[in-house]
Amino acid sequence: MNKIGVSSCLLNKICRYDGKKLNVDISSLLEDYEIIDFCPELLGGLSCPRLPCEIINGDGYDVLNNKAQVINSNNEDLSYYFIKGAQLSLDILKKQNIDKVILKSNSPSCGNNYIYSGNFNNEIKKGIGVCAAYLKNNGIKVLSEKDFNL
Ligand code: SF4
Repeated sequence: MNKIGVSSCLLNKICRYDGKKLNVDISSLLEDYEIIDFCPELLGGLSCPRLPCEIINGDGYDVLNNKAQVINSNNEDLSYYFIKGAQLSLDILKKQNIDKVILKSNSPSCGNNYIYSGNFNNEIKKGIGVCAAYLKNNGIKVLSEKDFNL
């Protein structure tokens, strides 16, 4: 059976910044796959719950190039934890021979086409999260739940 990586919160696991379930479970769409779930922010060492984080001065690619930062709502730079979480996520996927993932949209880690704006005002901007960018840079195909009309 082929394996696929999935953001843990898309399987209704408690890992989001607010400590709440997303009330979404995409596992029924993936019956042909063995699902390996992961949460880059927890892997990177952040707690649950935690303060919300957004990317300023760019997107995930820019964070990886030290041109942008992931900050929390207290204006603390947590980029290190996001990069570490992305690296550890890739480690898991490589060990499991996984080349395709479904990641939660808009997140500063998992967002694929859009991410929150960096203004903590619920607006989104075009761009990619840190983990999604890192995985793409390393040849992983990244989809989001939006690709399944959820
Ligand atoms: S979007 Fe990604 S980093 Fe955020 S809670 Fe879900 S799995 Fe974790």
